[in-house]
Amino acid sequence: MSLPPRIPYIVIGAGIHGLSTAWNLAKRLPGGGEDVLVIDKHGMASGASGIACGVIRNNYYQPAMRELMAHSVRIWESDPKAFSYHPVGYMQISCEAMRSDVAQIAREQQEIGYESVFVDGARDSLKYMRDLLDDWQARGITSVLHEKKGGYANNTASVYGLAGKAEALGVRVATGVEVTGFERESGSVAIRAVQTNRGPIACEHVVVAVGPWVKSIWDLLELPKAIDVKGPDGRLATDVPMWVYWSLQEGTLDVDPNLQQTNDGRMPPVIHVDSDAPLYSDLDGSLITDETWGIYYKPDFNFGGIQGGAAPFRVRADPDGVKVDPYGPASPDFVVGEDFTHMWTSALAFCQKRFEGKSGMYKREPSGGIGCFTPDSFPVFDRFCENVYLIADSNHGYKMIGVGELVAQELTGATSALLEPFRFSRYAEGRLHPRSHSPFPWS
Ligand SMILES: Cc1cc2nc3c(=O)[nH]c(=O)nc-3n(C[C@H](O)[C@H](O)[C@H](O)COP(=O)(O)OP(=O)(O)OC[C@H]3O[C@@H](n4cnc5c(N)ncnc54)[C@H](O)[C@@H]3O)c2cc1C
Repeated sequence: MSLPPRIPYIVIGAGIHGLSTAWNLAKRLPGGGEDVLVIDKHGMASGASGIACGVIRNNYYQPAMRELMAHSVRIWESDPKAFSYHPVGYMQISCEAMRSDVAQIAREQQEIGYESVFVDGARDSLKYMRDLLDDWQARGITSVLHEKKGGYANNTASVYGLAGKAEALGVRVATGVEVTGFERESGSVAIRAVQTNRGPIACEHVVVAVGPWVKSIWDLLELPKAIDVKGPDGRLATDVPMWVYWSLQEGTLDVDPNLQQTNDGRMPPVIHVDSDAPLYSDLDGSLITDETWGIYYKPDFNFGGIQGGAAPFRVRADPDGVKVDPYGPASPDFVVGEDFTHMWTSALAFCQKRFEGKSGMYKREPSGGIGCFTPDSFPVFDRFCENVYLIADSNHGYKMIGVGELVAQELTGATSALLEPFRFSRYAEGRLHPRSHSPFPWS
Protein backbone atom coordinates (compact mmCIF):
# COMPACT_ATOMS: atom_id res chain seq x y z
CA MET A 1 0.00 0.00 0.00
CA SER A 2 1.32 3.47 -0.86
CA LEU A 3 1.39 5.80 2.11
CA PRO A 4 -0.36 9.17 2.06
CA PRO A 5 1.99 12.17 2.57
CA ARG A 6 -0.44 13.54 5.12
CA ILE A 7 -3.45 12.30 7.12
CA PRO A 8 -5.37 13.88 10.03
CA TYR A 9 -5.08 10.85 12.34
CA ILE A 10 -2.15 8.42 12.53
CA VAL A 11 -2.58 5.44 14.82
CA ILE A 12 0.67 3.63 15.64
CA GLY A 13 0.05 -0.05 16.36
CA ALA A 14 -2.43 -2.56 14.89
CA GLY A 15 -3.30 -4.36 18.12
CA ILE A 16 -6.52 -4.28 20.11
CA HIS A 17 -6.23 -0.61 21.11
CA GLY A 18 -4.99 0.86 17.85
CA LEU A 19 -7.66 -0.88 15.78
CA SER A 20 -10.44 -0.22 18.26
CA THR A 21 -9.52 3.49 18.33
CA ALA A 22 -9.35 3.62 14.52
CA TRP A 23 -12.74 1.92 14.17
CA ASN A 24 -14.36 4.30 16.63
CA LEU A 25 -12.72 7.36 15.09
CA ALA A 26 -14.12 6.27 11.74
CA LYS A 27 -17.60 6.16 13.29
CA ARG A 28 -17.27 9.69 14.66
CA LEU A 29 -15.31 11.70 12.10
CA PRO A 30 -17.20 13.54 9.33
CA GLY A 31 -14.75 12.08 6.81
CA GLY A 32 -15.12 8.59 8.32
CA GLY A 33 -12.18 6.23 8.14
CA GLU A 34 -10.65 8.09 5.18
CA ASP A 35 -9.00 10.38 7.72
CA VAL A 36 -7.42 7.55 9.73
CA LEU A 37 -4.26 5.59 8.95
CA VAL A 38 -3.09 2.73 11.17
CA ILE A 39 0.56 1.80 10.77
CA ASP A 40 2.35 -1.19 12.22
CA LYS A 41 5.98 -2.18 11.96
CA HIS A 42 5.02 -5.85 11.56
CA GLY A 43 1.42 -6.91 10.97
CA MET A 44 -1.96 -6.92 12.65
CA ALA A 45 -1.94 -8.81 15.95
CA SER A 46 1.84 -9.16 15.89
CA GLY A 47 2.17 -7.76 19.41
CA ALA A 48 0.73 -8.70 22.78
CA SER A 49 -2.86 -8.79 21.46
CA GLY A 50 -1.91 -11.67 19.18
CA ILE A 51 -0.54 -13.86 21.97
CA ALA A 52 -2.84 -12.89 24.85
CA CYS A 53 -4.53 -15.66 26.75
CA GLY A 54 -7.63 -13.63 26.00
CA VAL A 55 -9.26 -13.60 29.44
CA ILE A 56 -12.03 -11.03 29.88
CA ARG A 57 -13.04 -10.31 33.46
CA ASN A 58 -14.22 -7.59 35.77
CA ASN A 59 -12.52 -8.89 38.91
CA TYR A 60 -10.60 -5.78 39.88
CA TYR A 61 -10.17 -4.30 43.34
CA GLN A 62 -9.90 -0.81 41.84
CA PRO A 63 -13.35 0.78 41.24
CA ALA A 64 -12.09 2.70 38.19
CA MET A 65 -10.77 -0.48 36.57
CA ARG A 66 -14.06 -2.27 37.24
CA GLU A 67 -16.15 0.43 35.63
CA LEU A 68 -13.85 0.51 32.63
CA MET A 69 -14.02 -3.27 32.27
CA ALA A 70 -17.83 -3.27 32.53
CA HIS A 71 -17.85 -0.86 29.57
CA SER A 72 -15.47 -3.09 27.60
CA VAL A 73 -17.49 -6.23 28.34
CA ARG A 74 -20.49 -4.49 26.75
CA ILE A 75 -18.44 -4.00 23.58
CA TRP A 76 -17.38 -7.68 23.56
CA GLU A 77 -21.05 -8.63 23.95
CA SER A 78 -22.09 -6.34 21.09
CA ASP A 79 -20.70 -8.71 18.44
CA PRO A 80 -19.43 -12.02 19.91
CA LYS A 81 -19.03 -13.56 16.47
CA ALA A 82 -16.82 -10.86 14.96
CA PHE A 83 -14.79 -10.62 18.17
CA SER A 84 -14.56 -14.39 18.61
CA TYR A 85 -15.83 -13.91 22.16
CA HIS A 86 -16.82 -16.81 24.42
CA PRO A 87 -19.05 -15.54 27.26
CA VAL A 88 -18.43 -18.46 29.62
CA GLY A 89 -17.95 -16.29 32.71
CA TYR A 90 -15.03 -16.03 35.10
CA MET A 91 -14.31 -17.26 38.64
CA GLN A 92 -11.98 -15.76 41.22
CA ILE A 93 -11.35 -18.50 43.78
CA SER A 94 -9.40 -17.21 46.76
CA CYS A 95 -7.70 -17.95 50.03
CA GLU A 96 -8.53 -16.24 53.32
CA ALA A 97 -6.06 -13.35 52.85
CA MET A 98 -8.08 -12.18 49.86
CA ARG A 99 -11.59 -12.87 51.17
CA SER A 100 -12.49 -9.34 52.27
CA ASP A 101 -11.00 -7.76 49.12
CA VAL A 102 -13.05 -10.04 46.93
CA ALA A 103 -16.20 -9.56 49.03
CA GLN A 104 -15.79 -5.84 48.45
CA ILE A 105 -15.37 -6.39 44.70
CA ALA A 106 -18.58 -8.45 44.71
CA ARG A 107 -20.51 -5.73 46.57
CA GLU A 108 -19.29 -3.05 44.23
CA GLN A 109 -20.06 -5.17 41.18
CA GLN A 110 -23.67 -5.31 42.39
CA GLU A 111 -23.67 -1.52 42.71
CA ILE A 112 -22.67 -1.06 39.07
CA GLY A 113 -25.04 -3.81 37.89
CA TYR A 114 -22.32 -6.30 36.92
CA GLU A 115 -23.82 -9.75 37.45
CA SER A 116 -21.88 -11.99 39.82
CA VAL A 117 -22.36 -14.46 42.69
CA PHE A 118 -20.23 -14.30 45.83
CA VAL A 119 -19.81 -17.48 47.86
CA ASP A 120 -18.45 -16.87 51.34
CA GLY A 121 -16.79 -19.49 53.55
CA ALA A 122 -14.78 -22.68 53.02
CA ARG A 123 -17.65 -25.18 53.13
CA ASP A 124 -19.95 -23.26 50.81
CA SER A 125 -17.06 -22.55 48.42
CA LEU A 126 -16.21 -26.26 48.19
CA LYS A 127 -19.84 -27.17 47.57
CA TYR A 128 -20.24 -24.46 44.93
CA MET A 129 -17.15 -25.67 43.11
CA ARG A 130 -18.08 -29.36 43.31
CA ASP A 131 -21.59 -28.62 42.01
CA LEU A 132 -19.84 -27.21 38.95
CA LEU A 133 -16.78 -29.49 38.67
CA ASP A 134 -17.11 -32.66 40.71
CA ASP A 135 -13.35 -33.31 40.94
CA TRP A 136 -12.63 -29.94 42.58
CA GLN A 137 -10.13 -30.50 45.39
CA ALA A 138 -8.25 -27.23 46.05
CA ARG A 139 -7.55 -26.77 49.75
CA GLY A 140 -7.63 -23.53 51.74
CA ILE A 141 -10.26 -21.79 49.60
CA THR A 142 -12.62 -19.54 51.56
CA SER A 143 -14.41 -17.53 48.88
CA VAL A 144 -15.55 -17.76 45.28
CA LEU A 145 -16.55 -14.84 43.10
CA HIS A 146 -18.39 -16.10 40.04
CA GLU A 147 -18.76 -13.43 37.38
CA LYS A 148 -21.56 -14.42 35.04
CA LYS A 149 -20.33 -12.13 32.29
CA GLY A 150 -16.91 -12.11 30.63
CA GLY A 151 -14.94 -15.21 29.73
CA TYR A 152 -12.37 -15.16 26.98
CA ALA A 153 -11.88 -14.42 23.29
CA ASN A 154 -9.54 -15.79 20.64
CA ASN A 155 -6.65 -13.36 20.40
CA THR A 156 -5.80 -13.07 16.69
CA ALA A 157 -9.36 -13.64 15.50
CA SER A 158 -10.70 -10.75 17.56
CA VAL A 159 -8.01 -8.38 16.30
CA TYR A 160 -8.91 -9.32 12.73
CA GLY A 161 -12.58 -8.83 13.59
CA LEU A 162 -11.84 -5.30 14.76
CA ALA A 163 -9.70 -4.59 11.70
CA GLY A 164 -12.57 -5.73 9.47
CA LYS A 165 -14.92 -3.26 11.14
CA ALA A 166 -12.41 -0.41 10.84
CA GLU A 167 -11.57 -1.15 7.20
CA ALA A 168 -15.24 -1.41 6.29
CA LEU A 169 -15.53 2.24 7.35
CA GLY A 170 -12.58 3.28 5.19
CA VAL A 171 -9.67 3.05 7.66
CA ARG A 172 -6.38 2.07 6.00
CA VAL A 173 -4.01 -0.29 7.79
CA ALA A 174 -0.43 -0.21 6.52
CA THR A 175 1.88 -2.93 7.77
CA GLY A 176 5.67 -3.03 7.60
CA VAL A 177 5.76 0.68 8.49
CA GLU A 178 7.92 1.46 11.49
CA VAL A 179 7.90 4.74 13.38
CA THR A 180 11.48 5.92 13.82
CA GLY A 181 11.00 9.48 15.05
CA PHE A 182 8.79 12.55 15.25
CA GLU A 183 8.97 16.03 13.72
CA ARG A 184 7.74 18.88 15.87
CA GLU A 185 5.99 22.11 14.93
CA SER A 186 8.52 24.95 15.10
CA GLY A 187 8.49 26.56 18.53
CA SER A 188 6.10 23.94 19.89
CA VAL A 189 6.13 20.46 21.39
CA ALA A 190 3.29 19.36 19.12
CA ILE A 191 4.03 16.70 16.51
CA ARG A 192 3.56 17.72 12.89
CA ALA A 193 4.84 14.54 11.23
CA VAL A 194 5.69 10.97 12.07
CA GLN A 195 8.97 9.72 10.62
CA THR A 196 8.85 6.16 9.39
CA ASN A 197 11.09 3.70 7.58
CA ARG A 198 9.03 4.62 4.50
CA GLY A 199 9.32 8.37 4.87
CA PRO A 200 7.53 11.08 6.85
CA ILE A 201 3.75 11.31 7.16
CA ALA A 202 2.34 14.68 8.21
CA CYS A 203 -0.54 14.55 10.66
CA GLU A 204 -2.70 16.51 13.07
CA HIS A 205 -3.13 13.82 15.74
CA VAL A 206 -1.03 10.82 16.75
CA VAL A 207 -2.39 7.86 18.69
CA VAL A 208 0.27 5.67 20.29
CA ALA A 209 -0.99 2.12 20.86
CA VAL A 210 2.18 0.09 20.78
CA GLY A 211 1.70 -2.21 23.78
CA PRO A 212 5.02 -3.56 25.09
CA TRP A 213 6.97 -1.17 22.82
CA VAL A 214 5.61 1.91 24.59
CA LYS A 215 8.95 2.77 26.18
CA SER A 216 10.67 3.14 22.79
CA ILE A 217 8.00 5.56 21.51
CA TRP A 218 8.00 7.40 24.86
CA ASP A 219 11.77 7.86 24.48
CA LEU A 220 11.39 9.10 20.88
CA LEU A 221 8.91 11.68 22.20
CA GLU A 222 11.58 12.73 24.73
CA LEU A 223 9.28 12.19 27.69
CA PRO A 224 10.85 11.60 31.15
CA LYS A 225 12.54 8.27 31.81
CA ALA A 226 11.89 8.61 35.53
CA ILE A 227 9.17 10.41 37.47
CA ASP A 228 8.14 11.33 41.02
CA VAL A 229 5.31 9.32 42.52
CA LYS A 230 3.33 10.50 45.55
CA GLY A 231 2.16 7.54 47.59
CA PRO A 232 -1.16 7.18 49.44
CA ASP A 233 0.66 8.27 52.63
CA GLY A 234 1.71 11.53 50.94
CA ARG A 235 5.38 10.50 50.76
CA LEU A 236 7.15 11.29 47.50
CA ALA A 237 9.21 8.59 45.82
CA THR A 238 11.63 10.32 43.45
CA ASP A 239 13.29 9.06 40.28
CA VAL A 240 10.95 6.11 39.80
CA PRO A 241 11.48 4.46 36.36
CA MET A 242 8.50 5.30 34.16
CA TRP A 243 8.51 1.88 32.48
CA VAL A 244 9.43 -1.54 33.78
CA TYR A 245 8.97 -4.94 32.20
CA TRP A 246 7.30 -8.05 33.56
CA SER A 247 7.54 -11.50 32.06
CA LEU A 248 4.15 -13.15 31.55
CA GLN A 249 4.03 -16.86 32.24
CA GLU A 250 1.60 -18.86 30.13
CA GLY A 251 1.38 -22.27 28.53
CA THR A 252 -0.91 -25.08 27.39
CA LEU A 253 -1.62 -28.62 28.51
CA ASP A 254 -1.90 -30.72 25.37
CA VAL A 255 -5.17 -32.50 26.15
CA ASP A 256 -8.62 -32.47 24.56
CA PRO A 257 -10.21 -29.20 25.74
CA ASN A 258 -13.38 -31.23 26.36
CA LEU A 259 -11.57 -32.77 29.33
CA GLN A 260 -12.52 -29.65 31.24
CA GLN A 261 -16.31 -29.77 30.94
CA THR A 262 -18.66 -28.96 33.79
CA ASN A 263 -20.76 -31.67 35.49
CA ASP A 264 -23.60 -30.88 33.09
CA GLY A 265 -21.36 -31.14 30.02
CA ARG A 266 -20.78 -27.46 29.29
CA MET A 267 -17.69 -25.33 28.86
CA PRO A 268 -16.75 -23.94 32.27
CA PRO A 269 -15.96 -20.38 33.26
CA VAL A 270 -12.35 -19.26 33.16
CA ILE A 271 -10.88 -20.29 36.51
CA HIS A 272 -8.48 -18.18 38.53
CA VAL A 273 -7.20 -19.54 41.85
CA ASP A 274 -5.09 -17.68 44.42
CA SER A 275 -3.91 -19.85 47.27
CA ASP A 276 -1.60 -19.71 50.26
CA ALA A 277 -1.66 -23.47 50.77
CA PRO A 278 1.77 -25.06 50.23
CA LEU A 279 2.04 -26.26 46.65
CA TYR A 280 3.65 -29.66 46.12
CA SER A 281 4.91 -31.17 42.90
CA ASP A 282 2.51 -33.44 41.07
CA LEU A 283 5.58 -35.23 39.73
CA ASP A 284 7.60 -36.08 42.85
CA GLY A 285 5.79 -34.56 45.85
CA SER A 286 8.52 -31.98 46.54
CA LEU A 287 7.56 -28.56 47.88
CA ILE A 288 7.28 -26.02 45.05
CA THR A 289 6.28 -23.02 47.16
CA ASP A 290 4.87 -22.16 50.57
CA GLU A 291 4.20 -18.57 49.55
CA THR A 292 1.00 -17.25 48.02
CA TRP A 293 0.65 -18.41 44.44
CA GLY A 294 -1.93 -18.02 41.70
CA ILE A 295 -2.93 -19.63 38.42
CA TYR A 296 -5.65 -19.27 35.79
CA TYR A 297 -6.84 -21.67 33.13
CA LYS A 298 -9.52 -22.47 30.59
CA PRO A 299 -10.21 -25.08 27.94
CA ASP A 300 -9.36 -23.41 24.63
CA PHE A 301 -9.72 -24.96 21.18
CA ASN A 302 -7.68 -22.15 19.66
CA PHE A 303 -4.65 -23.01 21.79
CA GLY A 304 -5.52 -26.70 21.51
CA GLY A 305 -5.78 -27.73 25.15
CA ILE A 306 -6.07 -26.31 28.63
CA GLN A 307 -4.41 -22.93 28.39
CA GLY A 308 -3.52 -20.55 31.18
CA GLY A 309 -0.80 -19.03 33.26
CA ALA A 310 0.65 -18.09 36.62
CA ALA A 311 1.80 -14.88 38.29
CA PRO A 312 4.36 -12.97 36.19
CA PHE A 313 7.75 -11.89 37.46
CA ARG A 314 9.41 -8.53 37.20
CA VAL A 315 12.33 -8.28 34.80
CA ARG A 316 15.11 -6.91 36.99
CA ALA A 317 17.33 -5.69 34.13
CA ASP A 318 17.71 -1.96 33.40
CA PRO A 319 14.61 -1.13 31.27
CA ASP A 320 16.89 0.60 28.72
CA GLY A 321 18.60 -2.74 28.07
CA VAL A 322 15.51 -4.96 27.76
CA LYS A 323 15.05 -6.34 24.25
CA VAL A 324 11.35 -6.38 23.34
CA ASP A 325 12.15 -7.72 19.85
CA PRO A 326 11.85 -10.42 18.73
CA TYR A 327 8.56 -10.51 20.59
CA GLY A 328 6.60 -13.24 22.33
CA PRO A 329 7.42 -16.87 21.67
CA ALA A 330 10.21 -15.74 19.28
CA SER A 331 12.10 -14.05 22.13
CA PRO A 332 15.32 -15.76 23.24
CA ASP A 333 14.94 -14.20 26.71
CA PHE A 334 11.28 -14.09 27.70
CA VAL A 335 9.62 -17.44 27.16
CA VAL A 336 8.54 -19.63 30.05
CA GLY A 337 10.95 -22.15 31.55
CA GLU A 338 10.82 -25.43 33.40
CA ASP A 339 9.91 -23.73 36.71
CA PHE A 340 6.68 -22.42 35.25
CA THR A 341 5.75 -25.75 33.67
CA HIS A 342 6.31 -27.63 36.90
CA MET A 343 4.46 -25.11 39.05
CA TRP A 344 1.48 -24.57 36.73
CA THR A 345 0.81 -28.23 35.98
CA SER A 346 1.15 -29.11 39.68
CA ALA A 347 -1.25 -26.30 40.56
CA LEU A 348 -3.77 -27.63 38.03
CA ALA A 349 -3.57 -31.00 39.79
CA PHE A 350 -3.94 -29.25 43.16
CA CYS A 351 -7.22 -27.77 41.94
CA GLN A 352 -8.79 -30.66 40.03
CA LYS A 353 -8.20 -34.39 40.17
CA ARG A 354 -8.59 -34.76 36.40
CA PHE A 355 -5.23 -32.99 35.98
CA GLU A 356 -3.28 -35.29 38.27
CA GLY A 357 -0.48 -37.11 36.45
CA LYS A 358 -0.90 -34.93 33.34
CA SER A 359 2.22 -32.77 33.65
CA GLY A 360 3.98 -34.80 30.96
CA MET A 361 1.35 -33.56 28.52
CA TYR A 362 2.46 -29.94 28.79
CA LYS A 363 3.05 -28.55 25.27
CA ARG A 364 6.80 -28.18 24.80
CA GLU A 365 6.71 -25.05 22.68
CA PRO A 366 7.86 -21.49 23.45
CA SER A 367 5.11 -19.42 25.12
CA GLY A 368 4.68 -16.27 27.18
CA GLY A 369 5.83 -12.75 26.47
CA ILE A 370 6.72 -9.50 28.17
CA GLY A 371 4.56 -6.57 29.12
CA CYS A 372 5.62 -2.99 29.78
CA PHE A 373 4.20 -1.68 33.06
CA THR A 374 3.72 1.80 34.52
CA PRO A 375 4.98 2.75 38.01
CA ASP A 376 1.72 1.62 39.69
CA SER A 377 0.96 -1.18 37.19
CA PHE A 378 -2.24 0.53 36.03
CA PRO A 379 -2.90 2.12 32.64
CA VAL A 380 -2.07 5.61 31.47
CA PHE A 381 -4.54 7.06 28.96
CA ASP A 382 -3.60 10.65 28.33
CA ARG A 383 -2.42 13.35 25.96
CA PHE A 384 1.22 14.30 25.67
CA CYS A 385 3.04 16.82 23.47
CA GLU A 386 -0.34 18.51 22.81
CA ASN A 387 -1.47 16.18 20.01
CA VAL A 388 -0.23 12.73 20.99
CA TYR A 389 -2.72 10.41 22.69
CA LEU A 390 -1.00 7.59 24.54
CA ILE A 391 -2.80 4.30 25.25
CA ALA A 392 -0.51 2.48 27.66
CA ASP A 393 -2.55 -0.27 29.26
CA SER A 394 0.19 -1.65 31.54
CA ASN A 395 -0.60 -5.10 30.23
CA HIS A 396 -4.23 -5.12 31.39
CA GLY A 397 -5.44 -4.50 28.00
CA TYR A 398 -6.63 -7.21 25.64
CA LYS A 399 -9.91 -7.30 27.55
CA MET A 400 -10.16 -3.49 27.26
CA ILE A 401 -11.61 -3.49 23.76
CA GLY A 402 -13.79 -0.52 24.71
CA VAL A 403 -10.95 1.88 25.50
CA GLY A 404 -10.73 2.76 21.80
CA GLU A 405 -14.29 4.07 21.87
CA LEU A 406 -13.54 6.31 24.84
CA VAL A 407 -10.26 7.53 23.33
CA ALA A 408 -12.04 8.32 20.05
CA GLN A 409 -14.57 10.35 22.05
CA GLU A 410 -11.76 12.31 23.68
CA LEU A 411 -10.00 12.86 20.36
CA THR A 412 -13.18 14.34 18.93
CA GLY A 413 -13.89 16.78 21.71
CA ALA A 414 -15.54 14.96 24.62
CA THR A 415 -14.04 14.01 27.98
CA SER A 416 -14.50 10.48 29.27
CA ALA A 417 -15.19 10.12 33.00
CA LEU A 418 -14.14 6.46 32.70
CA LEU A 419 -10.66 7.45 31.49
CA GLU A 420 -10.20 10.32 33.95
CA PRO A 421 -8.68 8.16 36.77
CA PHE A 422 -5.93 7.03 34.38
CA ARG A 423 -4.22 10.36 33.71
CA PHE A 424 -0.46 10.69 34.01
CA SER A 425 -0.88 13.50 36.58
CA ARG A 426 -2.06 10.95 39.17
CA TYR A 427 1.57 10.07 39.97
CA ALA A 428 2.53 13.62 40.94
CA GLU A 429 -0.79 14.25 42.67
CA GLY A 430 -0.89 10.98 44.64
CA ARG A 431 -4.23 9.86 43.15
CA LEU A 432 -3.13 6.23 42.89
CA HIS A 433 -5.45 3.26 42.60
CA PRO A 434 -5.92 1.08 45.71
CA ARG A 435 -3.91 -2.14 45.93
CA SER A 436 -5.35 -5.56 46.72
CA HIS A 437 -3.78 -8.60 48.40
CA SER A 438 -3.57 -10.51 45.12
CA PRO A 439 -0.18 -12.01 44.16
CA PHE A 440 -0.73 -10.59 40.66
CA PRO A 441 0.34 -7.03 39.76
CA TRP A 442 -2.86 -6.54 37.79
CA SER A 443 -5.73 -7.25 40.24
C1 LIG B 1 1.41 -13.70 27.31
C2 LIG B 1 0.39 -12.60 27.50
C3 LIG B 1 -0.90 -12.93 27.89
C4 LIG B 1 -1.85 -11.92 28.09
N1 LIG B 1 -3.11 -12.29 28.44
C5 LIG B 1 -4.06 -11.33 28.58
C6 LIG B 1 -5.39 -11.69 28.90
O1 LIG B 1 -5.72 -12.85 29.06
N2 LIG B 1 -6.30 -10.68 29.03
C7 LIG B 1 -5.97 -9.38 28.88
O2 LIG B 1 -6.84 -8.54 29.03
N3 LIG B 1 -4.72 -9.01 28.56
C8 LIG B 1 -3.76 -9.95 28.41
N4 LIG B 1 -2.48 -9.60 28.10
C9 LIG B 1 -2.17 -8.17 27.93
C10 LIG B 1 -2.61 -7.70 26.55
O3 LIG B 1 -2.23 -8.64 25.59
C11 LIG B 1 -2.05 -6.34 26.22
O4 LIG B 1 -2.25 -5.46 27.29
C12 LIG B 1 -2.74 -5.75 24.96
O5 LIG B 1 -2.86 -6.74 23.98
C13 LIG B 1 -1.97 -4.58 24.43
O6 LIG B 1 -2.60 -4.16 23.24
P1 LIG B 1 -2.01 -3.00 22.37
O7 LIG B 1 -2.95 -2.79 21.25
O8 LIG B 1 -1.68 -1.83 23.25
O9 LIG B 1 -0.59 -3.53 21.89
P2 LIG B 1 -0.12 -4.75 20.95
O10 LIG B 1 -1.15 -5.74 20.73
O11 LIG B 1 1.18 -5.20 21.48
O12 LIG B 1 0.11 -4.03 19.56
C14 LIG B 1 1.14 -3.08 19.42
C15 LIG B 1 1.56 -3.03 17.98
O13 LIG B 1 2.43 -1.92 17.82
C16 LIG B 1 3.38 -2.24 16.83
N5 LIG B 1 4.55 -1.37 17.00
C17 LIG B 1 5.40 -1.34 18.03
N6 LIG B 1 6.35 -0.40 17.84
C18 LIG B 1 6.08 0.18 16.65
C19 LIG B 1 6.72 1.21 15.87
N7 LIG B 1 7.83 1.84 16.29
N8 LIG B 1 6.18 1.54 14.68
C20 LIG B 1 5.07 0.90 14.22
N9 LIG B 1 4.44 -0.08 14.89
C21 LIG B 1 4.93 -0.44 16.10
C22 LIG B 1 3.69 -3.71 17.08
O14 LIG B 1 4.20 -4.34 15.92
C23 LIG B 1 2.34 -4.26 17.51
O15 LIG B 1 1.64 -4.90 16.47
C24 LIG B 1 -1.50 -10.57 27.90
C25 LIG B 1 -0.21 -10.24 27.51
C26 LIG B 1 0.73 -11.25 27.31
C27 LIG B 1 2.11 -10.86 26.86
